[in-house]
Amino acid sequence: MRLPYLHDVHEFETPKDSGAMNPHTESWMFSTLDAALCAHTVILMYHSIGDNPVDPHSLHPDIFARQMEELSRRRVRVVGLLDALNEMRQWRKGLRIVITFDDAYSDFLTNAAPVLKEYGYPATVFAPTGLLGGNAAWDSYDKGKVLMTWSELAELQHMGFSVGGHTVSHARLTECSESELERELRDSLLQLKEHLDGSIPVLSYPGGYFGHRESLAARKAGYMAAVGVGSRVANYPWTNLYALRRRRWL
Ligand SMILES: [Zn+2]
Repeated sequence: MRLPYLHDVHEFETPKDSGAMNPHTESWMFSTLDAALCAHTVILMYHSIGDNPVDPHSLHPDIFARQMEELSRRRVRVVGLLDALNEMRQWRKGLRIVITFDDAYSDFLTNAAPVLKEYGYPATVFAPTGLLGGNAAWDSYDKGKVLMTWSELAELQHMGFSVGGHTVSHARLTECSESELERELRDSLLQLKEHLDGSIPVLSYPGGYFGHRESLAARKAGYMAAVGVGSRVANYPWTNLYALRRRRWL
């Protein structure tokens, strides 16, 4: 099987730390510019990992395993989402890859986690907190997909993965009233804090639907960052933390 191509990764496969820069040397300006142009965060977006031909958002476990193998072979740096955000803020040089999963499907535990553990790769799962233990009732392709329970999310955290928010009811935020928007964001964060020690205050906008109103609301609700859906563009130190871009690797 020919592996799908991950745009850009091959160009940056040997990231090097820029090291300390001395602002009193004439090379400082060029080093700063160089660091800016090379600081490049790619956030991969997955949903279900399973053999599910009716669902175009599901990825076959064999393909997922080959993609992780490919990342390892290319020796790209795979870091946790919070580490990536810190490095972006510090304008740290070099490509970094972040792995994320929307919707908290239970096949993460069986089909994704073992492969990620094999390579030592961190990942973040974004959970719709009011639907855990149920099914993907919002999904237009396969409403039968099962979501993890709170205890399974705790188990996942125990394995070293992190959990962020995906609203309460997987609501399309751009269609919510002001009060619904506030409730979806605030209550999801509260439930994460209540049920899980160490959950991360990062939001994934359901379906990637967001605009200026939603990103401001996410900030106001207490999230430190928020990710969208589907763009093939990478993130740079100047990227709005409430409009982080992600890409699918199909
Ligand atoms: Zn979703």
